Amino acid sequence: MFDNSSSHRLVGKFFTNSTPPSFEETEKSLRQQWNLSGDMIVQKQGDNDTFLFEFRQKNDKVRVLDNLPFNVNGVILVIKDPNSSSMIDFTVATLVVFVVGLPWCLSTKEYLPTLESLIGGNATDITFTDGLFCFFVEVDLKKPLKAGFYIEENQFVEFKYSQLGDFCYKCGMIDHVETSCDRVRVHKERALNATSRTHVYGPWLRDSFSEKCFELVLNKSQNGARECEKSLSYAQFFIELEFNNVFICNPKFESRTKSTHRFRFPCSYLDTETEHTDFTTSKAYKVIRDEIYENTPFSDLAEFFGNRGEIGSLVEQLKLTKKNEFCCDDMWLVLNLQINRTTMLMPADR
Ligand SMILES: [Zn+2]
Repeated sequence: MFDNSSSHRLVGKFFTNSTPPSFEETEKSLRQQWNLSGDMIVQKQGDNDTFLFEFRQKNDKVRVLDNLPFNVNGVILVIKDPNSSSMIDFTVATLVVFVVGLPWCLSTKEYLPTLESLIGGNATDITFTDGLFCFFVEVDLKKPLKAGFYIEENQFVEFKYSQLGDFCYKCGMIDHVETSCDRVRVHKERALNATSRTHVYGPWLRDSFSEKCFELVLNKSQNGARECEKSLSYAQFFIELEFNNVFICNPKFESRTKSTHRFRFPCSYLDTETEHTDFTTSKAYKVIRDEIYENTPFSDLAEFFGNRGEIGSLVEQLKLTKKNEFCCDDMWLVLNLQINRTTMLMPADR
């Protein structure tokens, strides 16, 4: 036991009708998922399949709570802070829900109470960014998941759940899978359009983070302002940085939001490098990286780029552009740099 650590504890319990994952599997999986900065002790409590997690670092506990929910081999582990309440209900879990397909006219704060009632449970930490509502919701696991709602005939707004493990594609319950469903004989259906129907529950209820990708696209801009060159004393790029957030749900639905930032980039930054320069410490690399990371609306951009060298190859592209596009007396070149984040959302059964 760690000293003075009673406030650094969490408790967890699987919500399933089947045999839950073993203690060993659970501990191994969670250590991988949580990537802790300090040590952790895991214990099983009595016969009731409850796990006690004791963290050496308080920030590890906070990070786990901020990133709910978690599952092991597809089975949800309901995690609670034992200090938050004397009565812990393991049949209610925090899930993260995205609202996809809501028309722009309803994407307003005024519509929030309606959305909350449609999602059910207590919604907390509601965010509205990049054209999407996101909710942290206390969901009663004893009831089927909510798949979405109609705003008018044939127009269905979908709920997508983050880090959602297994659930039943027939009835929407989270405690079993389709093959062991004894509640209904056939998949629950809803109207797709005037002439056809679709299954309510399927893999499209997951928000599919794994299908997210980023790309960097650098082009010469059409907005060249050659008049500026007359007053410039040294050659520079003017870079229009464009962040595009694209959600593709099916061919009919693509949501795109854009934000921009502009900055000047003296070409001389590129001259300080030689073949042997470690590009990650070069001035050009640092300036580009800072401009992107400090202005991006994407909180996961740095994590995604990591050490993949995207920014390094961007610096190489700038060098090529300088060599090929700048004439000797040019002082100014406008470039368009797009950073596109595309999230493929699993389409409904259609
Ligand atoms: Zn079922």
